Amino acid sequence: MTRVHRAAWVLPIARPPIRDGWVEVRDGRIVAVGGAEDRPAGGAPPLDDGRPVAILPGLVNAHVHLELSWMRGLVPPGESMPAWASALIALRRSSTVDPVAAIGSGIAEARAAGTALVGDIANTTATLGPLSASELSAVVFRELIGFRVEDAGPVIAQAEREAALIPRSTRVRTALAPHAPYSVSPALLRALSTQQPLSIHLGESQAEIEFLRTGTGPWRAVLDAVGAWLPSWQAPDAGPIEYIARLGLLGPGLLVVHGVQLTGDELGRVAGAGATIVTCPRSNQWTGAGSPPIDAFYESGARIAIGTDSLASVGTLSVFDEMAAVRRLAPSVPAARILQSATLDGAVALGFADLGAITPGRRAELLAVELPAPMTSAPDVEQYLVGGVSPAAIRWLES
Ligand SMILES: [Zn+2]
Repeated sequence: MTRVHRAAWVLPIARPPIRDGWVEVRDGRIVAVGGAEDRPAGGAPPLDDGRPVAILPGLVNAHVHLELSWMRGLVPPGESMPAWASALIALRRSSTVDPVAAIGSGIAEARAAGTALVGDIANTTATLGPLSASELSAVVFRELIGFRVEDAGPVIAQAEREAALIPRSTRVRTALAPHAPYSVSPALLRALSTQQPLSIHLGESQAEIEFLRTGTGPWRAVLDAVGAWLPSWQAPDAGPIEYIARLGLLGPGLLVVHGVQLTGDELGRVAGAGATIVTCPRSNQWTGAGSPPIDAFYESGARIAIGTDSLASVGTLSVFDEMAAVRRLAPSVPAARILQSATLDGAVALGFADLGAITPGRRAELLAVELPAPMTSAPDVEQYLVGGVSPAAIRWLES
């Protein structure tokens, strides 16, 4: 069945916004997109009878931990990232909560906030079923942790075997994610270098920089406390990007999550490798990691995607809310760039070439966002959309 959606504005992302635009969809796919001059005859009336509307692609949340949704509000903001993470570990160890109900409501919340695709980090297979039963598309990254692992083969094989046992929809794919350089052994990191996509928490806290330089500091203390320290480990005396590059991980399929501590030179290396920075500014501020250098991210030329992180360190799973946080930290970054991060760049990073933009052939996962007033310039519309849009103003278009 063919439908034509018309609206005051259409934001294809892959090209500039179209005033008085339309999108033609058939059997769930985008067939054509255009403006007033080439509108197909006999299309539907505009969506914006009464209130103006902007059509844009469903958003991409490139870093979330749906499994931790039950922790909403239970881990207070931290003074430092290691202290915050220790509180999370203690909560997880002492809890008897079944995470499944909160996973379901987290997925529903993400969907209502306009999310089409998530990069979900998982320590179990618990999110695979609920995601498959939902309308979200997903890459579920099975997180690998193991600072003492010397033989990586069995660890990787077990993660892949467990994922393979869970039936899932074609919209849900699986991948692997080493947790971080202070929690995963060099042998395990090196063994993952051929995987794409691959996600790693990197350059998140100052303590991580200290650990990689000297092998000391708060992360070393955490490893000691949980009995995971490996006495034979030698600090690489390198920054996080140099360290993972030595291990073969820095490539186009890599999602460098957080990057709060990365220098301009390091960001340049990320850009040169074709890797993606995933920024989660609300989480960074909550965990005590600090504020990410958003301006430097965009100046580096690297692909920048956006993630909310988990409900343990953020109040909502809305990518619109995360865009607003990016905007607050870097008001001079063009709103169009932020929108691209929340759509096309996230989809490319996660390997979903059929999402993230309104172009013929892509899946018609389209949002209609109510605008508060008629707008005559594209920058005004873009500016409004990155200012924080509530779920009440968002609806999904039939495809
Ligand atoms: Zn994370």
